[in-house]
Amino acid sequence: MKSAKAVWFALAAPLLVLAGMLAIPVFAASGSSGLPPTPIGGIPERALQAYRAAGGWCEGLRWELLAGIGWVESRHGTTGGAAVDPDTGEARPWILGPPLDGRPGVRRLPVGQWLGWWGLPGPWQQAVGPMQFLPATFEAWAVDGDEDGVANPHQIDDAVATAANYLCGGPGGSIPDEREALLRYNRSETYVLEVLAYANSLAGPLSGAGILCPVAGQTSFTDTWLAPRSGGRLHQGVDMFAAYGTPVIAPVAGTAEQSNSALGGLGFRLWGDDGTFYYGSHLSAFGPHWGRVEAGTLLGYVGNTGNARGTPPHLHFEIHPGRSPRDPPAAVNPTPAVSSACEGSQGRHAFLSDD
Ligand SMILES: [Zn+2]
Repeated sequence: MKSAKAVWFALAAPLLVLAGMLAIPVFAASGSSGLPPTPIGGIPERALQAYRAAGGWCEGLRWELLAGIGWVESRHGTTGGAAVDPDTGEARPWILGPPLDGRPGVRRLPVGQWLGWWGLPGPWQQAVGPMQFLPATFEAWAVDGDEDGVANPHQIDDAVATAANYLCGGPGGSIPDEREALLRYNRSETYVLEVLAYANSLAGPLSGAGILCPVAGQTSFTDTWLAPRSGGRLHQGVDMFAAYGTPVIAPVAGTAEQSNSALGGLGFRLWGDDGTFYYGSHLSAFGPHWGRVEAGTLLGYVGNTGNARGTPPHLHFEIHPGRSPRDPPAAVNPTPAVSSACEGSQGRHAFLSDD
């Protein structure tokens, strides 16, 4: 055992690790920080190198997903004042998660045989290193990423390669569904959203591929992105005109909530599983199902509530890629995405209506 001084880091948010039989190796170090303004530039070079090297470990594993985990777990190995040594690739001082001492929401895992393992001081187990592995999980999936003869959970190449191996279920595995793979890593929906949001922010602007047309019926719209609006505002969305009462559906699966404001009238907020936030407004009425929704779930009906009163009925629709619930708004022009999603698709949505 090496005898480096380790740091513990305090989490601002309650721990999300749930009790159970799963060998969950990680903590969601979620808290006050949002996404970095310049994601790729914000990743320390040594960490970026490790993520890219382990991307493609199996079919379906993109390096951005590893970067998302590294960001949420340890801010790329910088939690608690640590830094990844450019030469050795080791995060120093060693990063240790909070003790798993059985407090509410946290498993109770005595350190047992792992006392002294890569700096574990006892009496409880703690997640270790930039990717926050529990000892048994690391030992079960360990990969010596930098090929120095030692699989070291504090070393960024080893930690990231081991994370890749674990997500893939081994080198011959695959990742058909990123959400499921991430839930295996940490059984927390919030965690999955944060990792995906970060990964998708690295992957570039939203293409619009994969979203359903939010208006399930005949609709017409033009590109009015950043067009002047009342009060000196600029238009942050697309206005999709349709007959009053045309169904409005969830463009992707996620978590939906109602909104109601003077400006938007009746609307929806949708935290997509794809890591993107969607907003729609001016509905005439709400659909019956909120909370967890599938793509195609009925959210409401086209109308002209809010400041659209007196105008032709339309859905005002916004897309905010890579936004997590705590981040400030950053919309992109949704017109290209909506154009590809709605082109030729009017009238053939198999939207899920009431019950
Ligand atoms: Zn609008």
